[in-house]
Amino acid sequence: MIKFDGKPDYRLFFMENPVRLVLETERSGFALPEDFAERKAGLIEQLRFGSVTRERSRLVASLAGPAEIIEKSLEADPATGRYTLSLKLAAIPAATFSERVRQQEALLGSSGGTVVKGGRVGAPPKREGYFTIVIDPGHGGIDGGSKGRKIGLVEKEVTLGVGKKLGPLLEKAGPFHIVYTREEDVFVSLRERQAVAERANGDLMISIHADSLRQKFVRGATVYTLADKATDALAQQVADSENLADVVAGLAAPEESDAVTDILADLTLRETTRFSHAFAAMLVRRLRDRVELINNPHRAASFAVLKNAEVPSVLLELGYLSNADDEKLMGEEKWQQQAAEVVVEAVREFFATRIGRSDVKGG
Ligand SMILES: [Zn+2]
Repeated sequence: MIKFDGKPDYRLFFMENPVRLVLETERSGFALPEDFAERKAGLIEQLRFGSVTRERSRLVASLAGPAEIIEKSLEADPATGRYTLSLKLAAIPAATFSERVRQQEALLGSSGGTVVKGGRVGAPPKREGYFTIVIDPGHGGIDGGSKGRKIGLVEKEVTLGVGKKLGPLLEKAGPFHIVYTREEDVFVSLRERQAVAERANGDLMISIHADSLRQKFVRGATVYTLADKATDALAQQVADSENLADVVAGLAAPEESDAVTDILADLTLRETTRFSHAFAAMLVRRLRDRVELINNPHRAASFAVLKNAEVPSVLLELGYLSNADDEKLMGEEKWQQQAAEVVVEAVREFFATRIGRSDVKGG
């Protein structure tokens, strides 16, 4: 049952890989109980809801298997003016489901017809004499990221907290022009994050995260760069869960790009990769004295968000919300501030030689 504040303008559609039912409505229209996402019933394995654009919200139900809606009713409560939508699902054969999804895609497109963007149309033009730093606070809106068990710290809030501390510090520290992929609690797809970096002609992109691992004892900051093959199983695990961010929001999984584009991108990637690795090394060095680090703190895996041919990019896991000690620290304003300061030092070092100005030194 889903309650709406007024007469809802909504649409329902199914998606596959994985099998999901998506309800999309106007952003303010939802009224769901707090523990809604924890509730499981019948074919529904997991529920998430939240904003996908400034105007639209989605409720995404992960299903145990292919299904159809067999009963649907929308009832109005004359006293409150609220509407309650009730749905009943039943399992159907996979082939039938696939066929219906294809028909529906022909009508609506692969993501239900909604062009999901982060709400910004263009990035501000490059500023002369400035280095453009793209700050990418992970997750947002319907995609909350991971969640700590001890105090319930939510990843999307930690990443935004640190990101918004980092921006002003960088602006003070040197000729740095800051572009954010998000500055509020909105969903931004992985593709859109890349696009923001490329449109801004970013000189460096820093994605900020605080994911969870199955290994609860593992803790400490980790700097990830892009690689076709993961350096280790842990890095693979983080990349796999990160790359699901769009699926969580009810978007189609990223498509494989064609081979020719890949070869062209590869040429540029080499230079870009060199810069990404150099920055990662500096960041690890700076983090070492000030923040708890994982062993082997520079790791690599195939992160979709880091696939920027032109923009050197790293993904910083501040720590892991699956670890109680990390969770406690990451929730502290003081710790967040300190983490941001360390990143600033690394950024200054990275650009110091290219700036060649006496007012910007590597800390
Ligand atoms: Zn994350």
